[in-house]
Amino acid sequence: MDQENIKPYLITDMNQRKAIVIGAGIAGIASAIRLARKGYKVTVFEKNSYPGGKMSEFRAGGFRFDTGPSLFTLPELADELFVLCGRNPRDYFTYSGLENSCKYFYADGTVVVAYTDRGRFAAELEEKCGEPAANTIGFLDKCRELYELTANVFIFSPFSRLSNLMTDDSKRVARNFRKLNAFNTMHGVISAHFADARVRQLFDRYSTYNGSNPYKAPGTMNVIAHLEHNLGAWFPDRGMYSVVEALVRLAEEMGVEFQFNNYVRLVLADGKRIAGVTAGEYYYRADVFVSDSDIVPFYNKLLNMKVPLWYSASDRSSSALIFYWGIGGTFPALDLHNIFFSRDYPEEFRCIARGTVSNDPTVYVFISSKRVQGDSPEGCENWFVMINVPENRGQDWDGIVSRARSDILARLLRETGRDIGSLIKVERVLDPRGIEEKTVSYRGSLYGSSSNSKFSAFRRHPNQRSRFENLFFTGGSVHPGGGIPLCLASAGIVAGLVPDA
Ligand SMILES: Cc1cc2nc3c(=O)[nH]c(=O)nc-3n(C[C@H](O)[C@H](O)[C@H](O)COP(=O)(O)OP(=O)(O)OC[C@H]3O[C@@H](n4cnc5c(N)ncnc54)[C@H](O)[C@@H]3O)c2cc1C
Repeated sequence: MDQENIKPYLITDMNQRKAIVIGAGIAGIASAIRLARKGYKVTVFEKNSYPGGKMSEFRAGGFRFDTGPSLFTLPELADELFVLCGRNPRDYFTYSGLENSCKYFYADGTVVVAYTDRGRFAAELEEKCGEPAANTIGFLDKCRELYELTANVFIFSPFSRLSNLMTDDSKRVARNFRKLNAFNTMHGVISAHFADARVRQLFDRYSTYNGSNPYKAPGTMNVIAHLEHNLGAWFPDRGMYSVVEALVRLAEEMGVEFQFNNYVRLVLADGKRIAGVTAGEYYYRADVFVSDSDIVPFYNKLLNMKVPLWYSASDRSSSALIFYWGIGGTFPALDLHNIFFSRDYPEEFRCIARGTVSNDPTVYVFISSKRVQGDSPEGCENWFVMINVPENRGQDWDGIVSRARSDILARLLRETGRDIGSLIKVERVLDPRGIEEKTVSYRGSLYGSSSNSKFSAFRRHPNQRSRFENLFFTGGSVHPGGGIPLCLASAGIVAGLVPDA
């Protein structure tokens, strides 16, 4: 860095302690709110011109699209931020419970509706797949038990701290270790529970919620199904991005300053403390620093250090290929969330592990205009069409995108009886290269490292390391992991670690 040309940024209030947050993803915004509530003057640096990171939106040709997350679980974690700041969350954004969380279409023609009412869902699986309802209820009870046993240790506390291992919750986990199913795979546990291959595929799919592989991820990950099937699935009434807008409004009311189009280039250390960051032509000092950047570029580029060895040994989580299609037609048989399952699920994950994409991928179609008026013009629908793909290893993405597009259109023709390609009025594509470029996510992985090993939870980067006492880590690439609820949980953990201003 040419230190001579860097100007110190003018500090306006010498009396208030300062915090800098790098990145305005959902975890960065939530951390900023929590630190402002603790009395810090917070500045958030965001390289993009908009907040939200992976959780953003765009409009084209009369359509609005949420670009990333589409499923909203544990909404109380977002509400909590408003309550913490003495506000009523309903003055900022609203959401409604879904009657069914997803509609599943199988290659053999079976259609299953995943009702959020457990009894109804179990009855549906019995009727459509012949799986006794008691099996589904029993499995979901086990998922609930797993969540109640592990959440305080694995999700809501700074897992890596030694003191955390001495709590009553941790001791309870140790006493019940067998129940975690850590030495079996997700698929192994599911197969022992369900006889029907379609039901197994349905529950295996939850591994993809953190970019993992059900044939490798530990059985503990079956906890994910608990959120949707026992606690409920929700949807913000004005679309996913309305959550980001609401949080940014709250942050600004709490005095947080957002600096958009301002990429943090370097994070400068002074002994055991971070002294400041450089962004644009300025050098900014602060007392506390929170990174919402993916951990790999944070170390490699901003800190100019090597990523800790234990972390770099982990597999990356998978990425996604998304087609945003403005469709000139309506499809009453489709719901808000739809899954068109592949015929051979193991092969799909073998392809991802090899860095390729199967020619029969499971296709997810999310249509927010089913619920949000104005998300598409009259008589049209906004389709977010996604498949799981490997992280960016320099593959021929143009070739992969073009082949996947044809495979997806062929599948949708078989399922709907309509030539979807001819109905596309607006098209945008996002592949792992674009995800990496837009959100600084290493290799375009959606959730940092994967959970494909029984040691994954131990290999996630902690929210603080002893190396720098005033540096904290939040967001999907660190503990407890990716996805909106876990990102919000990581911001809560960080706030608990940061001293009061
Ligand atoms: C296609 C897709 C579908 C998904 N589906 C779901 C879902 O249905 N449900 C769910 O819960 N989750 C889902 N997720 C995952 C979820 O979106 C993420 O886990 C979460 O949004 C990550 O938030 P984050 O705070 O970690 O930061 P990110 O969203 O990764 O944002 C980080 C921000 O930091 C900025 N930044 C990084 N480095 C710098 C720097 N040096 N200077 C300035 N700015 C910087 C980036 O520009 C970016 O805006 C999905 C993700 C994708 C991409």
